[in-house]
Amino acid sequence: MIRFDQVSKRYDGGFEALSSLSFQIERGEMVFLTGHSGAGKSTLLRLLTAIEKPSSGHVRVANALLAKMNRREIAFYRRKLGVVHQDHLLLMDHSVYDNVAQPLLVAGEHPADIKRRVHAALDKVGLLSREKFKPIQLSGGEQQRVGIARAVVKKPDLILADEPTGNLDPTLSRDIMALFAQFNAIGTTVIIASHDLGLIARLNYRVLSLHQGKLLDTPFAPTGRQS
Ligand code: ADP
Ligand code: ADP
Repeated sequence: MIRFDQVSKRYDGGFEALSSLSFQIERGEMVFLTGHSGAGKSTLLRLLTAIEKPSSGHVRVANALLAKMNRREIAFYRRKLGVVHQDHLLLMDHSVYDNVAQPLLVAGEHPADIKRRVHAALDKVGLLSREKFKPIQLSGGEQQRVGIARAVVKKPDLILADEPTGNLDPTLSRDIMALFAQFNAIGTTVIIASHDLGLIARLNYRVLSLHQGKLLDTPFAPTGRQS
């Protein structure tokens, strides 16, 4: 589903954040992206959200070359992405319901569909009873689950999470990872950037390790499935 061919990213000023990365992620896989702070994890995710373009090489998702997409195609592509941030970027003066509904409102979905899908997403993260609360009234772990509900409410093909457990204690971190595993179990491809090596080691998923912009892992997935 995702294919990087010889991808490098050099920022203005000349710093090479990613150096000639080649790897593939199959549809339906759940993969951890790890490495020290500054290793290039966020840069890799920003290439996948098409916020940044590679300086050289090719990034393909579902066989489409991201760098060749026009604005309309990028907007369409992003509808199929669910992005989770460390600090979850919730609207603090809006209810949990409104936060989760936001991507569907932006996409112009029918109000009846919005209500049903927001409820389904909140149910999946165990927060249906909190729909009228403001994020500020929730715990850190609950706020992160609202962020996840918002990311999955569009039924994305691909979930990208950047340090989703960065501010959470180990028990809550495990709960959040279990939630991602649940979405992966129904076929969603999931990529989680995390430097929590202890947590990752206990979970049995493929790990892509970045070190100073280079990949330390085996370059290709062992499966033969088509992307
Ligand atoms: P990570 O997510 O693994 O901490 P990043 O992808 O954020 O790593 O950063 C990789 C390197 O690229 C770092 O050295 C960082 O300082 C640099 N970098 C990140 N974003 C920019 C930017 N917009 N401009 C210049 N350098 C950047
Ligand atoms: P619809 O009837 O609109 O296709 P569903 O009732 O199947 O929607 O799903 C409702 C909600 O369940 C979605 O908005 C989403 O939160 C969640 N969901 C269902 N399938 C997936 C999926 N493959 N990945 C992530 N979330 C999903």
